[in-house]
Amino acid sequence: MKTIGVIGAGQMGAGIVQVSAQAGYRVLVSDIGLAQAEKGKAGIAKRLARAVEKEQITSADADAALTRIEPQGDYAAFTDADLIIEAATEREQIKRVIFGEVGKVMRDDAILASNTSSIPITRLAQATPDPARFMGVHFFNPVPVMKPIELIRGLATADATVAAVEAYARSLGKTVVHANDAPGFIVNRVLIPMLNEAIFALGEGVANMRDIDTAVSLGLNHPMGPLTLADFIGLDTCLEIARVLHDGTGDPKFRAAPLLVKYVDAGWLGRKTGKGFYDYSGPEPVPTR
Ligand code: NAD
Repeated sequence: MKTIGVIGAGQMGAGIVQVSAQAGYRVLVSDIGLAQAEKGKAGIAKRLARAVEKEQITSADADAALTRIEPQGDYAAFTDADLIIEAATEREQIKRVIFGEVGKVMRDDAILASNTSSIPITRLAQATPDPARFMGVHFFNPVPVMKPIELIRGLATADATVAAVEAYARSLGKTVVHANDAPGFIVNRVLIPMLNEAIFALGEGVANMRDIDTAVSLGLNHPMGPLTLADFIGLDTCLEIARVLHDGTGDPKFRAAPLLVKYVDAGWLGRKTGKGFYDYSGPEPVPTR
């Protein structure tokens, strides 16, 4: 593989572009327009400059990585891509339209992959030109820092597709795990019920917010407590994944905590809106209840 195409230059897409360029790939990146793709590249330039300041990488390496990133206004150049990774907004219809459009230009030997956190790979495959050359490649946030990549095969994914994407993932220095196409894959299947349970505990008055976070963080040796982590991920995202687990398994143990629904209804979505379980408007986060 020489050329990677990335669709979506947001939080995740830009991270995938960055690690791919740093690993020596030529990277084509598109978004809803050239300006958004350029913005994604500008953000990467800033992050690389910071890494140079901290002496984590040399300025020659940062410059070389940047020259390998080519923002695009359409998919014409994606015919060069050996692997195309879709990292656009988590909406099935958006992803289906993208697969239809990029499917027209991708080569017969190229692979298409999605970074979706929750949409079934086997279902998404139906919108792609060849389900045998389609799979899930689930990076973690922030991409340059987080080690694992979950590889998810759909029902029709070919062995050669998995092998090629695994080789790419390893070439980034990541740790590869394989998951079947089941709701939440591995990490979200385990994580989201834990965060949801912490929210149930809060709602039922088991303990206050700080004590739940302190107890779980220190007691389980996690770097942060579950309510802080839920705020970091985004409460809307946590709720969406909880619903995917619930709908996808039909198991009531995955039902979303009413308090989580209430916070999302209030628009208190966590750090990204300045308020979630904690209020982030002051110098220190303050519990909201
Ligand atoms: P984001 O909102 O930061 O970025 C999404 C990008 O997609 C935006 O730049 C948007 O302009 C672009 N986009 C929207 N419609 C498009 C279209 N039609 N064509 C091209 N680009 C389009 O979101 P994100 O957090 O980067 O999430 C992207 C994907 O990664 C989602 O599928 C999400 O589930 C998945 N994911 C997210 C995380 C996370 O922690 N945020 C972790 C793993 C996977």
